[in-house]
Formats: sequence, structure tokens, C-alpha cells
Amino acid sequence: MHALVRTDAGTLWTDVAAATCGPAHVTVEVSLVGLCRTDLAVASGRLKVQTPRVLGHEFVGRIVSVGSDVRGLSIGDKIAADPVLRCRRCDRCLGRWQYACPQAKFLGVDVDGAIADSITIPWQNAWRLPETLDDRVGALLEPVAACAAVLKAPLGTRQHGVVYGYGRLAKLTAMILRSRGFEFIRCVHPNQQPLGTDQYDFAIDTEGTTDSLAQLADCLRPGGVLVLKSRPLRPIALDLKAMLPKEHQIFPVNYADFGEARRLLLDPSIDFASLLGPVWSADQAIPAFKAAQSDSSRKHFIELTSVQSLPFAVRTQHQCVPSSDA
Ligand SMILES: [Zn+2]
Ligand SMILES: [Zn+2]
Repeated sequence: MHALVRTDAGTLWTDVAAATCGPAHVTVEVSLVGLCRTDLAVASGRLKVQTPRVLGHEFVGRIVSVGSDVRGLSIGDKIAADPVLRCRRCDRCLGRWQYACPQAKFLGVDVDGAIADSITIPWQNAWRLPETLDDRVGALLEPVAACAAVLKAPLGTRQHGVVYGYGRLAKLTAMILRSRGFEFIRCVHPNQQPLGTDQYDFAIDTEGTTDSLAQLADCLRPGGVLVLKSRPLRPIALDLKAMLPKEHQIFPVNYADFGEARRLLLDPSIDFASLLGPVWSADQAIPAFKAAQSDSSRKHFIELTSVQSLPFAVRTQHQCVPSSDA
């Protein structure tokens, strides 16, 4: 099958062997993949992965093969995925810390991902979607689960909060909070305007920089809640001397339950359409990645089905995302 693969020479379309469907797996024919910051980092080489590695983790597709142990899923079902594969046997997995499983592997980073004709995943990672749901919205399952994780923090709906960040994650987080009754949410673009001092009861950071956390600590009232929602690629510095006197409650959050995220996808009060960017054909992978890199406000997608009928040589012409030194 053809797949978009990070290699030592860059990221390019190439031919890879399709995985076989084990007893606890489903094989999914991929129709649409959303591009996120992680994919851009892998494609450019900023996030190092073992090569070759098939990219992509935010996808929608149809099940074409079902293992003998699979429950509740059938051939033809439309699904999206939880991209974190874990052992489901260790203490953390059997407790409530599955995403901290020592054997956790992320699709498109630690194991092969979804920008391919098909992908094979453990059945528990597949989440069936309603037929009527727009594929572009369905492909937002993982970012919605990531943003909805802020609801784990001790935030009050009558409290004043700020969501800090450049892109669609900040906007999506604010929309999810408003859908849950939070009335006093301000979404702030970095460098837009000063946040003030002691202004907010809680602050949600989606940037993960030294500067963003310093600004948010300043704008929070003493004892306020600082929610860490970003996953910076590299360690960042914190000025603890400035932060300690206000004794903030600091909450790092990872994912909400994916069942909860799926319910949110169907919530008509959330304007998912405002986050949707263009759908690129697979032979436009280079412009798709470039456009996604410079457009943090909208999600860009690559459609897989449009090229599955083309000859392989045509599909693979000139498809290489150059490495970056950043
Ligand atoms: Zn993602
Ligand atoms: Zn585990």
C-alpha cells in the first residue's frame, strides 16, 4: 500500500507493507487524515522518530477487517481513533492512568500511523462514529479529547478564565468550556494585549513556553488554577521564585475520555465548522503540510480515497516534505 513516510531523506510517499489484522485488531481503510502540530514536527524532522515511520494519527476510515476477539465493531463501520496504544495489562492501565502506560505508543510517532491506504489498530482504540457525521469533524476526535481534558481541572462555571494560545486548540478549548456552561471565558492570542495582574480565577495554557506560563502566572489571582494543556517538544524554564508566592494550583492534563470526546463531536453548540480548513488530495501533500504549518487557526486535511485508484507511480511523483533544521 502507499503511505506518507518519514525517512532519513525527508518525508515522502512510498510503498510499504500493510500490517496483518490480528485477533484483537481492526484494519481500517483510511478516508481522511487531519494534520496536527505533531505530524508537522515529525515530517520536518523536529520530532525525531525511528525511520521509516508512516505519519498521521487524526483519521477517519471504514473497517475492512475485524479480528476474532473484537467486540462491538463490524466491517463497514466508520471510525476515528484514540492514537495512544497501550498494554492494557499493567497497573497503570488497569487503574485510571492508561495514558501513562510505560509501553504507550503514539500512532505516527512510535508506531506507523494513518496517512496510508489502511491502518491496523487494536480494536479498543477504534471509536465508531455516526454515519451522518462529517468526516472532517470525526477526524477531530483526538484534538477534542485533548482539549476536553481541561474539564478534569477544578474549574467553576461562574469563574473567570483565560485560554491562552495562537491556534485552533485554544479556540476549541474555549468552545468546549462554553458548551459546558462556562460563561466568562476569554480567549487570548499571545502578544495581543496585556492580561493584567490577578485578573483570573483560572488560566489554560496551550502554548507551553516560558513566556506564556510567566504571563499566565501573573494574570492569575493568588490560589488560582493554572492548567497545562500544551506538550512542548523540549523542556522549558519556569521562574519559580516569581510563581511560588501566589500558590497556584497547577494541573497538567492529557486526554479526556474518548467516549466523552465523541459525545462532544455531536454537540451542536460547538462551532466545529469554524476550525475546518481545506481538504487536500494526497498528491498535494507538500502544499498541504506547508499550508498547515502557516495556518494554526484551521485544521488541514489530506483525503486518501481520491488517490487509491491512481497508478502508484503517479501518486508518488515529487512528494517530499523537506527536512527542517528548526
Ligand atoms: Zn493530533
Ligand atoms: Zn499498560
